[in-house]
Amino acid sequence: MCDAMPVIFSEPRPGDADQQELVLLLTNALMSRKAVDLTIVPHLYDLEPTGPTMEFLREIEEPMIVISWLYPRAAFWTLKTAGIAGQLAEEPADQEERERPVWCLGLHSEVDPKSILDEVDRILAGAAAPFSGRSDNREPTRRVEDTRERWYPVIDRDRCSGCLECLNFCLFGVYGTDSSDDILIEQPDACRPGCPACSRICPEGAIMFPQHGDPAISGDAKASLEGLKLDLSQLFSGADPSAQALAERDRAVETMQSQPKPAGGDRLDSLVDELDEMDL
Ligand code: SF4
Ligand code: SF4
Repeated sequence: MCDAMPVIFSEPRPGDADQQELVLLLTNALMSRKAVDLTIVPHLYDLEPTGPTMEFLREIEEPMIVISWLYPRAAFWTLKTAGIAGQLAEEPADQEERERPVWCLGLHSEVDPKSILDEVDRILAGAAAPFSGRSDNREPTRRVEDTRERWYPVIDRDRCSGCLECLNFCLFGVYGTDSSDDILIEQPDACRPGCPACSRICPEGAIMFPQHGDPAISGDAKASLEGLKLDLSQLFSGADPSAQALAERDRAVETMQSQPKPAGGDRLDSLVDELDEMDL
């Protein structure tokens, strides 16, 4: 019998007092549940896949709950891309699934924190074997890691058809392929901050930018699943998504060209020269 279920709580990015207050409130409420083994980690999306926190998460083998500031689908595929095994669980009863279930609960402005606690309670109550409960009253474990705000695409592999349109569209070398010619995010940090262009041209709605303001791009399963299949133009506020994507990509190129060149920036110079030669 396990004593408690691992619950991973991703911190918000620094600076939002309301979010910090919510973290405190939820942390206290979660620690009052003896069947919860709580670990607080830096913002999930900003973690480096090779860093110690992702390494720690990869070592967890039991069913686990992840609470983050991302839509569940975006949180799950961020973890999965970093090599964390499991399948996205939708219901408390998903504990019997073939792969280790990972429940991802998203904290968004419209989410009532009580609904998160209710969901945690439902999952704990549905556990295959009851938890004996922690015997201690210790503080939650806190994983400390230096992070910076990142911006990169996250692919929903359940949706991706492998068409490679994103690879052909992006001019910044973000995408590549593996030895089986499957799409790979080769250089995530080469993505231009704020550019969501390739998410608009993906025919399957598989590319997410979890920090984008549009729920269809940041990973709201309902917004993208129904909207993309039915009417792309409606989904993206009435604009032609291809034209919008081209304009966004052009802006990203212009921004890069206007940035001061670093000392000894020969590589950047040659990339800009290559881009200049392309018919954008
Ligand atoms: S465009 Fe979309 S479906 Fe095609 S390979 Fe890229 S992520 Fe997959
Ligand atoms: S958002 Fe823009 S820069 Fe980033 S991967 Fe897509 S096309 Fe490339």
